[in-house]
Amino acid sequence: MRSKLVAGNWKLNGSLAANEALLRSLIRNIPGNAAACAVCAPYPYLAQVRDLLRGTAIGWGSQDVSRHEQGAYTGEVSARMLVEFGCRYAIVGHSERRTLFGDTDSVVVEKYAAARASGLTPIFCIGETLEEREAGATEKVLERQVRALLAKTEAHEVAAGVIAYEPVWAIGTGKTATAVQAQEAHAFVRALVASKDGGMARDLRILYGGSVKASNAKELFAMPDVDGGLVGGASLVAEEFAAIWRAAT
Ligand code: PEP
Repeated sequence: MRSKLVAGNWKLNGSLAANEALLRSLIRNIPGNAAACAVCAPYPYLAQVRDLLRGTAIGWGSQDVSRHEQGAYTGEVSARMLVEFGCRYAIVGHSERRTLFGDTDSVVVEKYAAARASGLTPIFCIGETLEEREAGATEKVLERQVRALLAKTEAHEVAAGVIAYEPVWAIGTGKTATAVQAQEAHAFVRALVASKDGGMARDLRILYGGSVKASNAKELFAMPDVDGGLVGGASLVAEEFAAIWRAAT
């Protein structure tokens, strides 16, 4: 059966001092048992995160990864480099990467493949904008994003990753999808995956992301197809993030 995962996305935030205080508090408050927990930090801080989290129940990852293995790609970081020093997760296709940095569906799928080829667990983000939801196009958008992955990825490689449903209108806005809206989208995504492989769909973790807080996490995580959360702003506040994690346990 699927176990829950709560992953934090620090985005472009942090400093050596702030990260250390945050992580020390998380280590005290997240002893690890039923639900997995991870933080995804900016690249320069990954070594610090690795050192502080060694031997704890908290995993860690990056917020992106290159689709390239090596070569003349200035500014890129490859999956092999991340794995070399112990990274476990890599977020791919976050809506901020899609909208601000031009990551298309096919680029995101290439990043997913590069992550898997090196043994990383990709967290594959999907989600509709407000305009798309209001136009009744939510399922069409999710289908396009998920089918892009399914078309190029072996079933077992999809099951080895994580999907994060993050409605763009809920990210960083304080507007959370209702538990029912989240469940509808998650069930739809799981059904799409099941059309490729039923067993894989059953095992696949689908996280909800978008203004998750301690106050709404329990209701969201109680939904049958919501397997935890991808948490932005609240992951920078130790007590809040630990409370979200507890809501998943
Ligand atoms: C995110 O960045 O993935 C996210 C869900 O952000 P927030 O929790 O701040 O909405």
